[in-house]
Amino acid sequence: MLTTHAYAAQSAKAPLAPFSLERREPGPQDVLIDILYCGVCHSDIHQARDEWGGAIFPLVPGHEIVGRVSKAGSAVTRFKTGDAVGVGCFVDSCRDCASCRKGEEQYCDKGMVGTYSDRERYKDGAPTYGGYSTRITVDENYVLRIPDSIPLDRAAPLLCAGITTYSPLRHYGVKAGDKLAVVGLGGLGHMGVKLAKAMGAEVTVLSTSPSKREDALALGATHFAATSDKTTFKTLAGRFDFILDTVSAPHDYNAYLHLLKVDGTMILVGAPEAPAPLAAFPLILRRRKLGGSLIGGIRETQEMLDFCAKHNVASDIELIPIQKINEAYERMIKGDVRYRFVIDTASLR
Ligand code: NAP
Ligand code: ZN
Ligand code: ZN
Repeated sequence: MLTTHAYAAQSAKAPLAPFSLERREPGPQDVLIDILYCGVCHSDIHQARDEWGGAIFPLVPGHEIVGRVSKAGSAVTRFKTGDAVGVGCFVDSCRDCASCRKGEEQYCDKGMVGTYSDRERYKDGAPTYGGYSTRITVDENYVLRIPDSIPLDRAAPLLCAGITTYSPLRHYGVKAGDKLAVVGLGGLGHMGVKLAKAMGAEVTVLSTSPSKREDALALGATHFAATSDKTTFKTLAGRFDFILDTVSAPHDYNAYLHLLKVDGTMILVGAPEAPAPLAAFPLILRRRKLGGSLIGGIRETQEMLDFCAKHNVASDIELIPIQKINEAYERMIKGDVRYRFVIDTASLR
């Protein structure tokens, strides 16, 4: 086993603190990755605090992992030592169900294996630990190639925030000229703006933080509206083909549904810990649709990374040492992130 430095939460009430874990020696199909950077997703906070239930402690968060292959198993064909690679939200799946066969492993019938707070169901049952650590062993089929042109620290958030916004934009058919609103300008939201803009959509940011206006426009939005200003919901009524909701806390979905055109679609990717009431009328009256989306499969994640390289898209980040992680969580909860914290794992070595 490979003893590895990490940061973990020991319980839902405990702050993250230094922790030591064991990684498996790479088997024939595995690569061992020296982790260089790991993005900080709001899901890390939800899970480290067990807000969704079912968290497994000690919990080492982190599913926006970028690093270099330090060892490749004897049967590995896609990667070699030194390659820049990424790992996202899952590290295995059943490989046999309809979703896995389609390359949509995130919807695996038997359940994907989460990068952290999960168990290696299809292997030895060992707990999984995420990227707030210095290395990880992963089956090559669940590893992504990072294109040369994307700086590695700015690539890390693409592994979750990037694919979580790219996949629904593609699946729900957002196209050039469509009017799309992004709700919440955090990690997911800022990637949603960049990716939708690169796909040719006209993007409006709806935010609780009026101070993010200039940034929203610089990121590629054409319009910005503060949701604290109640006239926003009147002036923008019936305006959008799509709404991408990335908000991490409970809020009123009905108010946003009114902003869709006839046949418009609101897509939920934000995953607040508590449900919010839904009224039928905003959907009925304009034949609107409400959908959701979970991250993205390996094939589509590689497609997204290559799309980002082609369109010169990467995350806007604030690089932090691991010692600042608890402070970063508090800032994210206040919406004070511009626009993704990324851990420099040199601080763990
Ligand atoms: P984040 O960086 O913290 O951004 C969330 C943003 O939501 C904030 O910056 C803020 O933007 C807005 N917000 C926060 N509290 C709010 C409130 N009470 N009312 C209205 N707006 C509020 O979080 P993230 O990493 O982007 O993640 C966002 C959510 O997506 C989380 O729930 C996360 O678990 C979930 N997620 C889902 C998937 C999936 O597969 N579906 C994948 C990854 C993450 P403004 O300041 O602009 O208002
Ligand atoms: Zn995430
Ligand atoms: Zn499956």
